[in-house]
Amino acid sequence: MPDPIIIIGGGIAGMAAAWRLIPTGLPVTLLEARPRLGGRLDSLRAAGAPTPFDNGPHLFLSSYVRTRRLLREIGLERDFDYPWPGRLPVIGPQGRAAILWEWPLPAPFNFSAGLLSFPLLSWKARNRAVLAARDLLTGPLEAEVSAAQWLEAHGEAEERGLFWEPLVRAALNAPSEAVPVRDLQVILREGFAKGLTGGRLGHARRPLGKIFGEGMRRALEEAGVQVLTGHTVGGAEITAGRITSVKLRNGRSLPCRAVVAALPPWALYDWLRTLPHPTPLVAPLHLEAWGAQSLVSLFLWAGQRPWVEPWTSLPGRRAAWVFDYTRLWGDSRAPLGLILEWPDLPQSQTAAAMRGFVAREILPELAAALPQLSRVPWRAWKLVRERRATPLRPRALWGHPLSPTTALPNLVLAGDWLDPLLPPTVEAAVRSGEAAGEKIIMQKIALDK
Ligand SMILES: Cc1cc2nc3c(=O)[nH]c(=O)nc-3n(C[C@H](O)[C@H](O)[C@H](O)COP(=O)(O)OP(=O)(O)OC[C@H]3O[C@@H](n4cnc5c(N)ncnc54)[C@H](O)[C@@H]3O)c2cc1C
Repeated sequence: MPDPIIIIGGGIAGMAAAWRLIPTGLPVTLLEARPRLGGRLDSLRAAGAPTPFDNGPHLFLSSYVRTRRLLREIGLERDFDYPWPGRLPVIGPQGRAAILWEWPLPAPFNFSAGLLSFPLLSWKARNRAVLAARDLLTGPLEAEVSAAQWLEAHGEAEERGLFWEPLVRAALNAPSEAVPVRDLQVILREGFAKGLTGGRLGHARRPLGKIFGEGMRRALEEAGVQVLTGHTVGGAEITAGRITSVKLRNGRSLPCRAVVAALPPWALYDWLRTLPHPTPLVAPLHLEAWGAQSLVSLFLWAGQRPWVEPWTSLPGRRAAWVFDYTRLWGDSRAPLGLILEWPDLPQSQTAAAMRGFVAREILPELAAALPQLSRVPWRAWKLVRERRATPLRPRALWGHPLSPTTALPNLVLAGDWLDPLLPPTVEAAVRSGEAAGEKIIMQKIALDK
C-alpha cells in the first residue's frame, strides 16, 4: 500500500480537498483534531436544550457555485434551500418593518431595483446607495482603504447604518473598519450581483453538524477516504526537503507522500512552529499577525411560540439578526437564533452575569422589535461564543494574493483565508480545498516520492 496523501484539518476546506483527490486512486487520510468533522460548520448539544443548535447562524448564497457543486456530488444538496425571489425582512431602529427584495431581474438590476424600492431609506439615501453600489461594482478593486473609509467618502450615515454596515457585518463578519473595501466589492460582484438571478440568501435545512459532520464523513468514508477524528497533528519529519511523515500529539507518526494543511492561520502557525525550519514557510504569510473576528450567538427555546421570518435583520441593535430555526429546519422544537453585537464580552463573565445581561438587555430589545415574542416564556437559552469565527488579514496583506504552495514541495495549504479573490467564507474554503487537491494532481506532487 503506498503512503497516503495526508490532509490536516477536517473543516470544509480539508473535506473538499479530500473529495477532489479521490479520483487519483491514491490513499487519502484526513486528520481532524476534534471528535467530529466540519470545523467551523458545527452543531452542539447541551443539557436542557431540547434540540441541537449550530455554533452560530450561517447563511449560504446561491452564488456559492463550488460549494453547491460539492454538495451535489456528495448527495447533500437537498439539505439546502435558496428561496426565490430573495427577500430580507429588516426592522429599522424605530420599529418600522420593510422587506429588502432581490428582484427577479438579471444582476446587477436585481440588486439596484431592490435598493431603490427599499422603504426604510429616504429617496435620497436610496439614490446615494445605488450610486455607491455602481461604483463598487464597476470601479477597480481597492485594497488600500477600509470599507468604512470608502463608505464614509461615498455616502451618509443614513444608508450606512441601515444598509451598508449590516451588509458588511453579515457578508464579511467584521466591522467595516477591519476589512478592505476590496472585500465588499468582491462580495457584491461575486456574491450578490452575479449571473441571471444574482445571489439569493440560502440556509441549511438541518443542523450543520448533521450535514457536514455526519453526512460528509459518511460520503468520504464510502469513497475510500480514511477519516481519523480526535487526531491532533503536532509536528512532521522532513527528509531531503520533503515531508515524509506527520507526527500526532499522541506520539504516533504517519508516513505520507504529500500533505494538504487545511488549517486556519492560527492553527497553521502553531503547527509550522513545530517543524525544524519553519521560517521560510511562516514569513511570507505573516502568520503571527493574523487576527480573528469573534461571533456571539444566543439560542432561545420555548414550548410554543409564534413563527417569525426565517431570518430578519435588526440594524442598530445588540441582537443584530434573528433566525427562526423552526422555519429553517421545519422542526417545531427548534430554537430562535440571535447574532449578538457583543464582541467585547469578557471571557470571565459568570453564567449568572450573562443570564442577567440577556434578561435585562437582549430580551426586551427583541420583544420591542418583534412584539409577537414579548409574552413568550423562554424555557432554555444557550450563548455560543466563537472566538475565532473568521480570520482577519493583517493590513500588510490587504490586496496581496497568498500562495498555497510552500518552500516544501509536497506541502500545499488550504483554508477559507487563502482564496485569491473571496473573503473568508464557506465558498472560499471549498475553492481553496479544491485548488489544493488540483495542485497535487496537476503538479504530480504526490507521485514524486
Ligand atoms: C458562527 C459562524 C458563522 C459563520 N457564518 C458564515 C456564513 O454565514 N457564511 C459563510 O460563508 N461563512 C460563514 N462562516 C465562516 C465559515 O464557517 C468558514 O469560512 C469555513 O467553515 C472555514 O472552513 P475551513 O475548512 O477553512 O476551516 P475550519 O472549519 O476552521 O477547519 C479547520 C479544521 O482543522 C482542525 N485543526 C486545527 N488544528 C489542527 C491540528 N493541529 N491537527 C488536526 N486538525 C486540526 C480544526 O479542528 C478544524 O476542524 C461562519 C463561521 C462561524 C464560526
